[in-house]
Amino acid sequence: MKNCLFCKIINKELPSDIVYEDDKIIVFKDIRPKAPIHLLILPKKHIPSVDHLEIPDRDLMGELILTAKVIAEKNNLKGYKLMINVGRDGGQIIDHLHLHLLSGKITEIP
Ligand code: AMP
Ligand code: ZN
Repeated sequence: MKNCLFCKIINKELPSDIVYEDDKIIVFKDIRPKAPIHLLILPKKHIPSVDHLEIPDRDLMGELILTAKVIAEKNNLKGYKLMINVGRDGGQIIDHLHLHLLSGKITEIP
């Protein structure tokens, strides 16, 4: 989607610190980390928010969570939080669905 910051990162039009990528999912470091480990896990498909999910997106959402699990495993994370902000009132700033993976002491709620 034009004018979407995260789509620009996905298309490599903007730089980011990518930690995982496949044909459907990308994971990169949050530019303003709110915990020692703060990653963003997102579908490459532009879905604005959870409010815009449709039934066929079910598998993709499952894969996002499984990706979080695999990344946590690979990084030997003992525990972590997964968070999705939905809508402005839910704290969502970027309108491209993303899962926050946070581990370690949280300094600020994303
Ligand atoms: P949210 O409030 O859930 O929409 O979260 C958006 C997140 O994206 C925030 O935690 C920001 O720090 C992060 N962010 C904004 N711009 C970038 C960027 N260029 N690269 C990586 N993370 C970003
Ligand atoms: Zn997008």
